[in-house]
Amino acid sequence: MKNRLSYISTRGLAPVLGFDDVLLAGLARDGGLYVPDVYPAMAKSDIAALRGLSYADAAARILAPFVAGGLGESELAELTRDAYAGFDHPAVAPLSQIDANEWILELYHGPTLAFKDLALQLVGRMFDAVLKKRGERITVVGATSGDTGSAAIEACRDRDNVDIFMLHPAGRVSEVQRRQMTTVQASNVYNIAVDGTFDDCQSMVKALFSDHELRDRLNLSAVNSINWARVAAQTVYYLTAAVSLGAPDRKIAFSVPTGNFGDVYAGYVASKMGLPVERLVIATNMNDILVRCLKTGSYAVTAVVPTISPSMDIQVSSNFERLLFDLYDRNGKSVAGLMGDLSAKGAFEVDRGHLAEASALFRAAEVSEDKTLATMAEIHRSTGLLIDPHTAVGIAAGRRERPDAAVPMVHLSTAHPAKFPDAVERATGVRPALPAHLKDLLERPERYDRLDNDLATVKQYIESKSRAA
Ligand SMILES: *Cc1c(COP(=O)(O)O)cnc(C)c1O
Repeated sequence: MKNRLSYISTRGLAPVLGFDDVLLAGLARDGGLYVPDVYPAMAKSDIAALRGLSYADAAARILAPFVAGGLGESELAELTRDAYAGFDHPAVAPLSQIDANEWILELYHGPTLAFKDLALQLVGRMFDAVLKKRGERITVVGATSGDTGSAAIEACRDRDNVDIFMLHPAGRVSEVQRRQMTTVQASNVYNIAVDGTFDDCQSMVKALFSDHELRDRLNLSAVNSINWARVAAQTVYYLTAAVSLGAPDRKIAFSVPTGNFGDVYAGYVASKMGLPVERLVIATNMNDILVRCLKTGSYAVTAVVPTISPSMDIQVSSNFERLLFDLYDRNGKSVAGLMGDLSAKGAFEVDRGHLAEASALFRAAEVSEDKTLATMAEIHRSTGLLIDPHTAVGIAAGRRERPDAAVPMVHLSTAHPAKFPDAVERATGVRPALPAHLKDLLERPERYDRLDNDLATVKQYIESKSRAA
């Protein structure tokens, strides 16, 4: 019998939970994020034993200690097999070599062509399994400007105990992004086109969540990137990639295009579990708050700048709080103090000692728009590969902060180039084609309802459709 992990809040004041409660909880009640009380350790032999396993079987091994108490081992193995069966590459997360001792890790072979599928395809199934045991249903509500909505919808579609309502601003998302959401034919998926802006959609979702009566009655839930299960699921590809390149007998470096700090934090968790990681490069576009913080200690929010890598146009990187918790010796009071400064003054200071500790593993680099385009062009010229702008940011930053050339360098490729065709064409002159499973996307029938920009209307719509009531 494996030890069960307990999950604690980064601010120290929320109840300690087991895995299934953490899966469903989202934000902790004290405003913090849940983390395991200890990182489960993998011995060198456990890591070596991942060699030759399928991605799904490796995921089941790696995740077993995280889910113990909530899901059994054979149950988990069934979920991972089902989750990754729909990917359009048999390796799920294959490596492609781009130069001497330098690779990209292709995380875009899932149904919506972005790395979020690797976590969400599994997490949607975990939701269903846990809810079924508890005899509960949830109502997932979210707002999207186009990018994350489709990954959440694909994760929740056809799940027996989940209904999903996704708001998008009518006429303000690209046709491909809208169709990735609205052509999903599943009776538990509701796309709502709101006559308003993305901010209108976002504030309606916030208002729905602060309506406590509604929240409790419909079991409202979110599948956002602060969910611990998403982080855990993302540790898997760091381990599988590293093992392919010689771990645990060799150290590996990773460069990670970063927005909310979820993905790169998962790499840190993998290192805490025992993976020999030489370096993690935090790669950002012009929204460089993390770069400034690592250089000066000052985490200071400025205005968001729109870029050609829009999924990283973020100023407050929520998951950074999880790293701070460790840097501050897991003292919830210290973290709550920093976060209090952030909401009061829009900034906090990380002290020198803790900053130096972070620099042992992390480097951060910011990449300009011109450099992003030039990197897409250069990779296309030198290898024939088309890469998306987020991946290009990762490669440019990773090359700038690369350790010794003898250490294998892995750049995480977070989106398929066809997801950002305009930027790719601008850089390379080539317009990337959608992969086979989405070829007929523009001909598929769409399903969505158009609603007024009015909270009462949206609320009534959700109440009338949700099965959780
Ligand atoms: C979400 C996303 C990112 C950023 O990931 P975080 O976990 O938020 O740091 C990077 N690239 C793409 C394509 C994304 O969709």
